Amino acid sequence: MGDKQAVSGSCLCGKVAIEAKAADLHVGACHCGMCRKWGGGPLLAVDGGTEITINGEEFVKRYSSSEWAERVFCKECGTHLFYLLKDRRSAYYFCRSSGAAGSNGDGSSNFY
Ligand SMILES: [Zn+2]
Repeated sequence: MGDKQAVSGSCLCGKVAIEAKAADLHVGACHCGMCRKWGGGPLLAVDGGTEITINGEEFVKRYSSSEWAERVFCKECGTHLFYLLKDRRSAYYFCRSSGAAGSNGDGSSNFY
């Protein structure tokens, strides 16, 4: 378990900004087929925790990629923002592409 700390990030065009008050900066990687298709490689993300603020919600597109998860991106510039488990609305996995993962990830774990 990494330290919990506030992180923020935004998409490429700046229309969407996300903040988490207590993210776990331990970086996780998912190599499943859907993540690789979505991002062209493994999904690198951190657990954003439960206290999330999204600015620019009108530019947020939520794609239901399976019965249990949705993938969220900026509909203006396409930047991947986060991955969300539908049955746990508190589980936001911030994509490193949004910059919200911080620059000092303390290591990585791999799942799938
Ligand atoms: Zn954008």
